[in-house]
Amino acid sequence: MVDLQGQYLKIKEELDNAMQRVIDSTAFIRGEDVRKFETELSAYLGVNHTIACGNGTDALQLAMMALELQPGDEVLTTPFTFIATVEVIRLLGLKPVFVDVKPDTFNLDPEQLEQVVSPRTRAIVPVHLFGQCADMESIMEFARSHGLYVIEDNAQALGADFLPANGLKQKAGTIGHMGCTSFFPSKNLGAFGDGGSLFTNDESFARRVASLANHGMQVRYHYDHVGVNSRLDTIQAAILRIKLKHLDEYHRLRQKAAAWYDNTLSGLDGIQVPARSPFSTHIFHQYTLLVELTRRDALKAFLLEKGIPSQIYYPLPLHLQKAYKDLGYREGDLPVSEELCHKVLSLPMHTELEETQLEYISDQVHKFFKS
Ligand SMILES: *Cc1c(COP(=O)(O)O)cnc(C)c1O
Repeated sequence: MVDLQGQYLKIKEELDNAMQRVIDSTAFIRGEDVRKFETELSAYLGVNHTIACGNGTDALQLAMMALELQPGDEVLTTPFTFIATVEVIRLLGLKPVFVDVKPDTFNLDPEQLEQVVSPRTRAIVPVHLFGQCADMESIMEFARSHGLYVIEDNAQALGADFLPANGLKQKAGTIGHMGCTSFFPSKNLGAFGDGGSLFTNDESFARRVASLANHGMQVRYHYDHVGVNSRLDTIQAAILRIKLKHLDEYHRLRQKAAAWYDNTLSGLDGIQVPARSPFSTHIFHQYTLLVELTRRDALKAFLLEKGIPSQIYYPLPLHLQKAYKDLGYREGDLPVSEELCHKVLSLPMHTELEETQLEYISDQVHKFFKS
């Protein structure tokens, strides 16, 4: 699905030197690369503040903590995402309320917000799934008119451009009150271990999050809030500083692979290639097909037999997960997400895909549907 080794080898010397530099300095925690990475990521995103932290899940949790919500307050989000989005809401004693997604872009459907908003609703967490932005214009308008916070889960779309109607593009994750991302190794900007960041244009949120990530400390050994320990290792920051310079090139390589898949697979009976949102670029964290009902698992098995990995993101929507049963959802409550779980299949997508590999993969998909 990914080729982290190929990507590493291309810039091995630069990365090895950066890691060695951190080891020589022994400034493993809060070393200067962390601050420099925060500044460089802020500049890349065009946002005022970036706070690095331990991973993407922590970034989401820190954002939710910074809102200072009350137990039982409701947060609207999608059930068609990675579990972290919902886990942190639950862990903080808040109540996730699910909103179904659009069948084409897989992103939160803003038209369904009205049906679930209540006097207890405090925030919306849109997820920019697979590499393109949710309909942030509609979501922000709804949030403004109901006095809600917006936290963007941007773990899969770091660097994608949000394209609003006014033509003033913004980076994904910088539109709401706070945005969160992950540097898990397989993400578009991947570290050599765990890492994450939160970004915001709001100075008071930035200060609160920086303090919460450091045990709620403001003045040394004086604690104003109950915080957590969530930091980005200096070694990871040094690696990410180098990889950030290549991020746009990584996106371009993914887009090139996606265009290849599109050209060879669109029009094939039985599958749909990924839809493009009109208000976002697509950086293809995943290249996800919709396969006709009942044939998806057979296609996956066929590809595996031919030596081609593929993945189902996601096989079960979050409202039907055992751990979240007490929220009271049933099958049929969020029909679009439920159907997608039976139809989606993600093909190999990374920066090192060669034409011969892409050709082989698409040939095999053709063979499956023609046999
Ligand atoms: C990867 C991911 C996260 C969590 O990131 P970690 O760094 O693994 O904690 C959260 N949300 C989404 C949508 C993700 O894809």
